[in-house]
Amino acid sequence: MSRSSFQQFHWHSKQFALASNDIHAFYHLLAEQMQGLALTKKTLGHIEGYPLELYQSANPQPKLANVLISAGFHGEEAAGPWGMLKFLSTLEPSITEQLNLSLLPLVNPTGFKAGHRFNQFGENPNRGFLVDKGRAKPAEDCSREGQLLIAQQALLKNLSQDGILTCHEDVLQHNCYVYSFEPEAAAGPFSYTLRDSLAEYFPVAADESIDGCKLEDGLIHNHYDSSFESCLVKLGAKRGACSETPALEDFDQRINANCAVMQQFVSASIEYHTKQV
Ligand SMILES: [Zn+2]
Repeated sequence: MSRSSFQQFHWHSKQFALASNDIHAFYHLLAEQMQGLALTKKTLGHIEGYPLELYQSANPQPKLANVLISAGFHGEEAAGPWGMLKFLSTLEPSITEQLNLSLLPLVNPTGFKAGHRFNQFGENPNRGFLVDKGRAKPAEDCSREGQLLIAQQALLKNLSQDGILTCHEDVLQHNCYVYSFEPEAAAGPFSYTLRDSLAEYFPVAADESIDGCKLEDGLIHNHYDSSFESCLVKLGAKRGACSETPALEDFDQRINANCAVMQQFVSASIEYHTKQV
């Protein structure tokens, strides 16, 4: 089985009482959740009239960890962006006094609206991020979204210095797993703690190969490709992860799991930074 670029997936969320691809409701609720948080919005560009938005701490402090959370690269993996909305609803306004938090809540709006993996032009928004001599450059097949992100590489590199989490789903799976990055090191507590936060909701995938990558203990560790997260780790992010929730399972559970992995990433990032400082 492989993942289809244009097969449409639609789910209903009971907790939001909305369809998974209701993009207008998504942007509306996102703007609402941002009220009261000291995050400023920067629009990186538009794709077919929809904004690609980056939120970042309004008053970043040099002594705090710089972390970036992203979601919605693949349009049918809808529990990521909705999980981010739920995550935002759990944040205290004081969060930005504990870390410099940045967010890309919905990278591929046209895919999200249609409920299919690629953007509406048939491009894969999570491929084509090449790195050469410490600089990112778009591959020939780099998507419109990817080009907008690479244009901001200096900024995104700074915002993800201490960690990048990107939230994906796997439409072929009943089980969860994580692509983890701890450069120059075996998988450590950071990787396992993110896996464990997903394991509260779903069984961890058995040791096997997924998409040709070796999966062990629910982790595919330090696997570098041309994805966004891999690119940011190559540019210097100290830790990285791509969480994978199983899209063959209940949509609301997947939303809850995405919220949980974001919360765990934030608390682990604060803890690591405090130890280091
Ligand atoms: Zn994905």
